[in-house]
Amino acid sequence: MDFGIAGKVALVTAASRGLGRGCAAQLAAEGCRVAICARDEKTVKKAAEEIADQSGSQVMGWTADMIRTDTIDSLLDSVRQSLGEPEILVTNAGGPPPGNFATTPLDQYEKALHLNLMSAVHLIHGVVPAMQAKGWGRIIAITSISVKQPIDSLLLSNMARAGLTGFLKTIATELAPQGITVNALLPGTHKTSRIEQLVQHRAAQEKKTPEEILAQMMSANPTHSIGDPSDFGAAAAFLASVQARYITGQNLLVDGGNYRGLL
Ligand code: NAD
Repeated sequence: MDFGIAGKVALVTAASRGLGRGCAAQLAAEGCRVAICARDEKTVKKAAEEIADQSGSQVMGWTADMIRTDTIDSLLDSVRQSLGEPEILVTNAGGPPPGNFATTPLDQYEKALHLNLMSAVHLIHGVVPAMQAKGWGRIIAITSISVKQPIDSLLLSNMARAGLTGFLKTIATELAPQGITVNALLPGTHKTSRIEQLVQHRAAQEKKTPEEILAQMMSANPTHSIGDPSDFGAAAAFLASVQARYITGQNLLVDGGNYRGLL
């Protein structure tokens, strides 16, 4: 199926590896002109080159730190000057450190809110005016399965993503008349370095090897596997498509059926 987005400008943040990169690669494969960012210049440029080589699309990479609004503004300026106004935005940032109430120092809370909530708000503020002027836009936020079912050892992530979910649902209604959809993609467990970090954390807590923890995760999932960033990117490309114009304000789980709730 042709998703009808070839030539559109897509910005995917925090995308030198993992789920962000999976989304960028899939949007590039659909023919979008893609901008990505991460904190390390060498890594992000290399990722942009690799995605461009694989897809044949234009892909550019810049450094930006999602915890710093000044670098988000510079990123948006660079994308506008080099590729044009983003018509598709995928917001992403690294996850905050794991921990529970007993182990999380008070000063970590505000940082997590900046990283996983305010960065998305800031990016969305930056791209919406041009989307409104065009009468078309796709906003997709990478959040987490934790908005359906908070994860015990990820207090900061649970908190920040719940706030972002409330923001997204509210603006989805407001922006729908202008042809802009706003959705969240909720990863379950995908093969990325973030998951490696969480596996190490759980292994230390439960006095098991990382291999044992990974095997437990896989056998607990209905598919008996963990996801791949390309599974995730495919869902992002569909939400960005012209065909998805009637899907907005949704939280789409990409988790192999791991969440057992009805809704
Ligand atoms: P990852 O560690 O594999 O990749 C993170 C990417 O973000 C990298 O490109 C890194 O360079 C970049 N990055 C990190 N911090 C940044 C910052 N401050 N500013 C700019 N770029 C930054 O992580 P991932 O597994 O792809 O996870 C992406 C998001 O999805 C995270 O917020 C994570 O908590 C969440 N998540 C992931 C899973 C999963 O299964 N992998 C599950 C639930 C939630």
